[in-house]
Amino acid sequence: MVRINQHFLKLHNYFLFTEIAQRAERFLQKHPDVTLFKLGIGDTTEPLPQSVITGLKRGVEKLSNKKTYVGYGDERGEIALRKGFVSWYQEHGVSLDADEIFISDGAKTDLANIPSLFHQRCIIAVQDPVYPMYVDSNVIYGRTGKYKNGRYKKVVYMPCVKENNFVPSLPKTRVDLIYLCMPNNPTGSIMTKKQLAEFVAYAKQHKAIIIFDTAYAAFVQDPKLPRSIYEIPGAKQCAIEINSFSKSAGFTGVRMGWTVVPKDLRVEDAIPGEVNALWKRRQATMFNGVSHITQEGALGLLTKQGQKECHDITQYYLENARLIRATLTQLGFEVFGGENAPYLWVETPKGLSSWEFFDLLLEKAHIVVTPGVGFGPHGEGYVRFSSFGHRETIQEAVKSLQKASLLQKI
Ligand SMILES: *Cc1c(COP(=O)(O)O)cnc(C)c1O
Repeated sequence: MVRINQHFLKLHNYFLFTEIAQRAERFLQKHPDVTLFKLGIGDTTEPLPQSVITGLKRGVEKLSNKKTYVGYGDERGEIALRKGFVSWYQEHGVSLDADEIFISDGAKTDLANIPSLFHQRCIIAVQDPVYPMYVDSNVIYGRTGKYKNGRYKKVVYMPCVKENNFVPSLPKTRVDLIYLCMPNNPTGSIMTKKQLAEFVAYAKQHKAIIIFDTAYAAFVQDPKLPRSIYEIPGAKQCAIEINSFSKSAGFTGVRMGWTVVPKDLRVEDAIPGEVNALWKRRQATMFNGVSHITQEGALGLLTKQGQKECHDITQYYLENARLIRATLTQLGFEVFGGENAPYLWVETPKGLSSWEFFDLLLEKAHIVVTPGVGFGPHGEGYVRFSSFGHRETIQEAVKSLQKASLLQKI
């Protein structure tokens, strides 16, 4: 008799994006001639850069020719691409070995699978608010208790609030796997090297592992701020880094990311290099690698031209963020983030709840955002504006905001 994995049933039955879509739909049914500005979802809108297109075409060419055709590749990714990443990290002052880099079909997959390397009873710590899948995947692994009042039992939540600049404090109780999302989705906050070094020191001291999700690293503007956790000395002993081309190069639908599992990683009951070897074993068993075509496309991004094009894409979205930020600030709202990340974290006015402000923005300014409470209990009282969108859309959205005189309508 087969039974289901009961842990699935613990997953909080709260479909944030479904609820958002339904509210928008209901509004449109009542007001069919209104155009909504969708600044809710974190998905890219600008087309792939030329370096990627050239690479993708080259990939197709290679597979269409008898002499250059290949079947399965190395499940860790093509060596040329991994070496490309080694040089890329080198430029940021980080030295890695090609064997420490694993090409994936996106950050989410690896963020969900990496925890399978560690013991069932690991205690996980997450920022609150944060990207919800870190906790959800661990719910499925059975590492959490039941969901109650916005939280799962056995999970350590690190509040990120205005008072701490949305940067978490070190956990006060024992934790084993610490997720850090930096620059942060949804708050757009970022840690300084000094703050990150405190987490590294903590992890080393308590023999914990940091899972560093740096999907928005390419948006970091200030050269003094870290883009990789390995810029912090000693981090290779305690951190796995996960990144992706989704947001910096429009790969949300192409699918490719990379994960660094350092050979120096220290885990209580593993010899040096073992975690790296286990991840390699895991990928060989449960993954057959990323399409050659995609990897050729990604190779294009590691060229000078590719890097310039990534820079242009991130600048495009950051300019959108500046437009939204300037308008909201001028209208009297309190706005955070948006400087080193494509997200703006906006405090709701006059004590409105996240959903109340969501409705007000929808009804009066025809703008769809994401209620902050959907990212964790400490997201209550905020909404997230995404700056992904065509410039024309953003310009119209800010005009609509200006016209709406929201603060007078509460
Ligand atoms: C978008 C996003 C990712 C990227 O996921 P992919 O699977 O690479 O598309 C990872 N982490 C965070 C926090 C994100 O917002």
